[in-house]
Amino acid sequence: MVESATPAPKAAIAEGLRREFEVRFKSQPRIFRAPGRVNLIGEHTDYNDGWVMPAAIEFGTWAAVAPRSDGTLHIVSLNFNEERVVSPEGAERRGDWSDYVSGVAVMLRRAGLGTADANLVLWGDVPLGAGLSSSASVEISAGLALVAAGGQQLARTELARLCQRAENDFVGARCGIMDQFISSHGRAGHALLLDCRSLEYELIPLPADVAIVIANSMVKHELAAGEYNARRAECEEGVLILQRSLPGIRALRDVSLQQLEQHRGDLPPKIYRRCRYVVSENARVLEFARALKAGELRRAGELMAESHASLRDDYEVSCRELDLLVSFASEAGAIGSRMTGGGFGGCVVNLVAQADAERFQSELARNYEQATGMKPELYRTRAADGAHEVTARSEKNA
Ligand code: ADP
Ligand code: MG
Repeated sequence: MVESATPAPKAAIAEGLRREFEVRFKSQPRIFRAPGRVNLIGEHTDYNDGWVMPAAIEFGTWAAVAPRSDGTLHIVSLNFNEERVVSPEGAERRGDWSDYVSGVAVMLRRAGLGTADANLVLWGDVPLGAGLSSSASVEISAGLALVAAGGQQLARTELARLCQRAENDFVGARCGIMDQFISSHGRAGHALLLDCRSLEYELIPLPADVAIVIANSMVKHELAAGEYNARRAECEEGVLILQRSLPGIRALRDVSLQQLEQHRGDLPPKIYRRCRYVVSENARVLEFARALKAGELRRAGELMAESHASLRDDYEVSCRELDLLVSFASEAGAIGSRMTGGGFGGCVVNLVAQADAERFQSELARNYEQATGMKPELYRTRAADGAHEVTARSEKNA
């Protein structure tokens, strides 16, 4: 197990992938890359029409592509060392990694875009299933590749929507649009404030001397999927009750904290707490964006701490391991620290002074291992660029 991972050199990866492609398919590919992501603040707000603030990370998936001429799509994952042959007209879910690509090919075909007459080879360094959205990075890189192989272009927001549809309707995973959106729209050195209702967004600079340190708790509780659906249902119940006195609201995004307090008596206590989390989290995301723009890092850190506390106490999606990581991170001097992703395991995101990151990481890892017997995986990154074609020029800049 790696104790601390930094992304592999990008130029070497693209070159290795190119060679592998040429050996297998005897043709020259074009190469595309899309990053994974981490959400800095705004958890469980996407399905409440609210705001989120993710950043693309320096870990991603590369997709090498070249056209075929027999109407089939050959997909290889070097991570899985497997090849699948898909015919998108009749593509069916297989229940494995290739669904993420087949799904994108099917959605492209429905939209009259791209080609599925192609060879596609994938390699990625986003840890799989850790909550850093390796899935969206596969979808977006494959989507870009298949559109380009068809000799077309597609607006990034449309690409994100189409890949989300692939994950929702083909793979069968309920997710909002955040992951695909940040993987396609990210910008180096910036977080992205996204309005999940309108899809309007703003890139917000992050200070250059701040590192993003992601700590993987290495636990994944089985409850996650069931509890996710339960939280969504509880939010919907809250909206239905609040609509009786606030007929103008469509989602918790439309409710202020003051309105929520006014109508607290109408809500069962648990539903009230769920709503309090979502309504306060939406306010925190906007305040976090303001604080970053004003250079108020300490305030931004407080908001991350408040976010975690409310996820733990009001929304009840944290767990012992995530709480331990957050408390050790704060003792070790993080500017801000909170669980990130759906919860019940997965990762904690920390903002840490770049100059102090090494010491921070070893202290965090040591304390966590002492308390739980598990070594956390740590991924250090800056905010990275969104999806792009990998050319000799982009490799030089990487
Ligand atoms: P996360 O998106 O948090 O990493 P998911 O369960 O949503 O977790 O997606 C992980 C899945 O995405 C993997 O199990 C695999 O099916 C697919 N995947 C991710 N990266 C690759 C890759 N490089 N090659 C093939 N499939 C991949
Ligand atoms: Mg995913």
